[in-house]
Amino acid sequence: MEQAFFKDEKSHKGLLIVISGPSGSGKGTVLSRVFERRTGLFYSVSATTRAPRPGEINGQHYYFLTREEFEEKIKAGGMLEYAQYCGNYYGTPRRAVEEKRAGGLDVVLEIEVQGAALVKKACPDCVTIFIAPPSKEELERRLRGRGTEDDEVIKKRLETAVSEIEHAFDYDYIVVNDEVEKAAEKIDSIITAEKCRSSKYKGL
Ligand code: 5GP
Repeated sequence: MEQAFFKDEKSHKGLLIVISGPSGSGKGTVLSRVFERRTGLFYSVSATTRAPRPGEINGQHYYFLTREEFEEKIKAGGMLEYAQYCGNYYGTPRRAVEEKRAGGLDVVLEIEVQGAALVKKACPDCVTIFIAPPSKEELERRLRGRGTEDDEVIKKRLETAVSEIEHAFDYDYIVVNDEVEKAAEKIDSIITAEKCRSSKYKGL
């Protein structure tokens, strides 16, 4: 039996990958491609107080909670982070993230900018990636094309999107989503590189 200098990557604790991007940046589509491209990822299902969109399933897209339930969970320390976004609470349940990382899976959080900043503070070893739409016009086209929100909501989301883009430089990486496949490939490469960081081998 040969003795390896370094333990296999599979025995490392999983990465914590934080992905943000304004609604309409196409981050959902890009992320689905990333999940098809590589194994060992775990998507953290968030909790929210917003109403489900048609086709959204409780426990799969989100855990849909009432404001009271959400606030209870905050009080009990059950949220790794949470934020208010367009009038609703959104938060990351802590337990699944910790358990999956300990089991070696790379955990992906798809969260907005305030939450991402909180995670970076609490877990400085996390990897933060900002997915940006190619232009304001394309962002608006994508938001309207979804056809699930009325004009007022779209206007609010557009305003929020523009202010979110100003936070892009707080992230470790920026990926412009002008083409889904290319954006997915870049994220895949970022994850691969992060797993090779020498610091990940310390203490093994
Ligand atoms: P949507 O209502 O379009 O599903 O999500 C609105 C925003 O909330 C998106 O930017 C999404 O990434 C973000 N979001 C989803 N889950 C969480 C979460 O657990 N925490 C935080 N801070 N933001 C979240």
